[in-house]
Amino acid sequence: MADPQERLKTYRAKRDFAVTAEPAGGAEVAVAAPAARFVVQRHRASRLHYDFRLEVDGVLASWAVPQGPTLDPKARRLAVHVEDHPIEYFDFEGVIPKGSYGGGDVIVWDWGTWQPSRPADADAAAAIDQGELHFDLQGEKLAGRFVLVRTDRDKDKGGTKGSGKEQWLLLHKKDEHAQPGWNPEEHPRSVKTGRTNDEVLAAPDVEWHSDRPAAEAAVQLGSGPPPTWDPPTAEELAALDALGKAGTWALQGQELKLTNLDKVLFPGREGEAPVTKRELIRYHAQVAPFMLPYLYDRPVNLNRFPDGADKPGFWHKEVPSHAPEWLTRWRRDDVDPGETALYFVVDSVPALAWMANYGGLELHAWTSRLPDVHQPTWALIDIDPGPKVTFDDVVVLARLYRTALEHLGVAGMPKVTGKRGIQIWVPIADGYSFADTRKWVEKVSRAVGATVPELVSWEWETNRRHGLARLDYTQNAINKTLVAPFSARPAAGAPVSVPIEWDELDDPDLRPDRWTIRTVLDRLAAVGDPLHPLIGRQQQLPDF
Ligand code: MN
Repeated sequence: MADPQERLKTYRAKRDFAVTAEPAGGAEVAVAAPAARFVVQRHRASRLHYDFRLEVDGVLASWAVPQGPTLDPKARRLAVHVEDHPIEYFDFEGVIPKGSYGGGDVIVWDWGTWQPSRPADADAAAAIDQGELHFDLQGEKLAGRFVLVRTDRDKDKGGTKGSGKEQWLLLHKKDEHAQPGWNPEEHPRSVKTGRTNDEVLAAPDVEWHSDRPAAEAAVQLGSGPPPTWDPPTAEELAALDALGKAGTWALQGQELKLTNLDKVLFPGREGEAPVTKRELIRYHAQVAPFMLPYLYDRPVNLNRFPDGADKPGFWHKEVPSHAPEWLTRWRRDDVDPGETALYFVVDSVPALAWMANYGGLELHAWTSRLPDVHQPTWALIDIDPGPKVTFDDVVVLARLYRTALEHLGVAGMPKVTGKRGIQIWVPIADGYSFADTRKWVEKVSRAVGATVPELVSWEWETNRRHGLARLDYTQNAINKTLVAPFSARPAAGAPVSVPIEWDELDDPDLRPDRWTIRTVLDRLAAVGDPLHPLIGRQQQLPDF
């Protein structure tokens, strides 16, 4: 075995889990060896088994135990000696793709430290070779003295060492940790995340590809956390302020040709100055680190108001031929003639600033990410108030959704629209279709609406809704979009759509258009974005 101090150093360097139990001392342990790690993974492959793994000389010596390890001293559990696993597998919890070896789901069922119990076990690799290892475990579920012993000692009849066919037995000695009748299936949760195999299968974070080098075998599922962007520097902002009516602005390595900088794009609110294009460009550059996580990997639809928010605007999707080369574009290939084929993808601070100069006053990002635009990443709830519905009523509806989502154990966050309504954004796992999210949001919305029928209409046509609110699940479709978080809205003062905490629904000062491009940056500096942690979360939508 390698130098024990060296092994301990490696162990300490690698340990990333909490173990409270200290190695047992005194007469019980004949060998004062440093502890190495052990892990037991509950693995549902073609057959359920528990993979029992001991860290030995930098690899995981492994046995597959169909009935699982137990503290019952009377039990003799079959343990099939299988190939060593790489140390990178130690804390793997996730799925192994169907069709590959061991395809199924895995949880970290127990982990902790182990040490040899007899002098003969001090060289664990040699003891395993000899077919008998006595050791002590300090895990969160398993503890006390165990024995692994090979039963098919005649190697010619059984498998050969390392062939994956050797039959061993796993036993627990009679000691103070022994518990007659102890059943591992009655302790089904992961010690790493508290989840069951079913819960991991429903929302796996990681996939293991054993055909790859160990360091690259664990593949993060979903989009992972979004990238980050730097805000513009004070010098860059000062250069924008110093430009005349038009000019070239150097921003993060791009030259932006800006025009009509002093044009009014939004009338002012009462007692406030109107909002100019320069101010919107400045805002887009400054809010970019908060807004780009919602935009950078999706097509975007622009609501353009080149003559200002008090003149009619129009939807603009197609990238114009004069757009600069450096803007990212996405070509949709499944379109009919006349439909938009070339979309903007706003993935940098200069790109977001360019949108403001282009009169792209309001940005709506797609609910799906590239490249699979048929797979939504959010289930969207849209509380659309009718003329007779007050904002207080909208808040009542939002609170009912909060209760419904809590009841279902589903994470979501509210967001004021900057106009009159509230939306609720629910992150979802890969694999859903828009038909799935539409159906699910409709079901939740019907349940919510049934509790306050006096507030809600299910009529499609506005004039048949009698001024009541609409709980619009139909926004869950590939070609429908909701306003992006932190986008301005075309109204006086340049109000902004802003994600909020659930408890802010109780704030008497809350208004759907409370924040504007002049005030939301202070809010972000103070409280950040409560929706950001939900971006890319792999969450299943439960049946109910
Ligand atoms: Mn296995």
